[in-house]
Amino acid sequence: MATKLPEAPRVGMVSLGCPKNLVDSERILTKLRSDGYAMSPDYAGADVVLVNTCGFLDSAKEESLEAIGEAIAENGRVIVTGCMGKEAETIRARFPNVLAVTGAHQYEEVVGAVHEAAPMPPSPFVNLVPDAGLKLTPRHYSYLKISEGCNHRCAFCIIPALRGDLVSRRPDAILREAEKLVEAGTKELLVISQDTSAYGVDIRKEPRLWKGRDVIPHMTDLARELGRIAPWVRLHYVYPYPHVDQVIPLMAEGLILPYLDIPFQHASPSVLRSMKRPANEAKVLERLKKWREIAPDLTIRSTFVVGFPGETEADFQYLLDWLDEAQLDRVGAFRFEPVEGAAANTLPGAVPEEVKEERYARIMAKTAAISAAKLQARIGRTLEVIIDEVGEEGGATGRSQADAPEIDGEVFLRDAGHLGQGDIVRVEIEDADEHDLYGVPLA
Ligand code: SF4
Repeated sequence: MATKLPEAPRVGMVSLGCPKNLVDSERILTKLRSDGYAMSPDYAGADVVLVNTCGFLDSAKEESLEAIGEAIAENGRVIVTGCMGKEAETIRARFPNVLAVTGAHQYEEVVGAVHEAAPMPPSPFVNLVPDAGLKLTPRHYSYLKISEGCNHRCAFCIIPALRGDLVSRRPDAILREAEKLVEAGTKELLVISQDTSAYGVDIRKEPRLWKGRDVIPHMTDLARELGRIAPWVRLHYVYPYPHVDQVIPLMAEGLILPYLDIPFQHASPSVLRSMKRPANEAKVLERLKKWREIAPDLTIRSTFVVGFPGETEADFQYLLDWLDEAQLDRVGAFRFEPVEGAAANTLPGAVPEEVKEERYARIMAKTAAISAAKLQARIGRTLEVIIDEVGEEGGATGRSQADAPEIDGEVFLRDAGHLGQGDIVRVEIEDADEHDLYGVPLA
């Protein structure tokens, strides 16, 4: 018996303006086609009509408005995109019934608006790609990218040159992706970007409706909503701007994991200045103390660069002393390497390789000792652990809330053969070394 496929919604497209707009229209249609949508050559057969507008000249704007009017009269279900997206108010004033207005190059938004206006019926024959997308990570944890690019210009980094300034994803699109990932089995969301604490600075005035609530594009609001969706939410690449104080109570409430990955890179004020690091302020140690008072189990992970041009022995010693005070839980260190195109390469005071090596060994020894002491203090405690792998001889490997996959430590379990990947269990910690813990799951 032949299998009857569900009928795909049909999308009509009116593309106005220059060849760049035409390429945008093609890109939107390619994505919709790969999502399973069918195309309609006329208004009558379309479930929704996209009008890709041009706003280059007044005459082009008038032509765009006329095209929107025609699509509304002929079909009624219209999404507007393209250059005139900047004038959403004018469009809405004249055509209050348009379903959505998105701007030029906002592919994710316009495709999202089509999905909302004419949802694809689920079918395993059409939807070859799972709703949550294709993943390279195991099913139980997923990286969630919330923005692209970066507004800073750190002297050792070429990311802004490669990826441009920060562009935030709209919060409802992020939350929809998070929900799909969780439906597909994700237990732990790892929030990533170049600068998570700057999320939303470019779209702050554009709250989006999600589950009947307006969500402001801001790290705190997004973290709170993500905490309602996934059992574990972990924040990476956070800079210690003052507003980061607001996410600590969410950790105390158990909404997100008490974990912050803050790439400090150095502590000496003069090195931080020549690195041009963001949120480089003197009171960080005090803030860490306050954060730990609110969320005593807060784990702070960081990375540091040693041997940056101009780093003196006094700067390096300042960093070691700072680490003694800061008592960071997890630390990675790198020897400075000139990356082609980075501003730091022309700075005076290159540090000889053997000095970099020696400083690297010293910082690793210091941070390993701090880590070992912190892990020793966990012996005898009961911790929540997510299971990454179950072995054949009754053992399993997992991670506590203090451990991000790949970069932090692990928890090795005995008598855990009954557990499955992705289970979150309570574990009594029996032993520890420099980086890892050992324990047994509680019944
Ligand atoms: S190091 Fe990070 S914050 Fe600095 S410019 Fe590069 S991406 Fe931006």
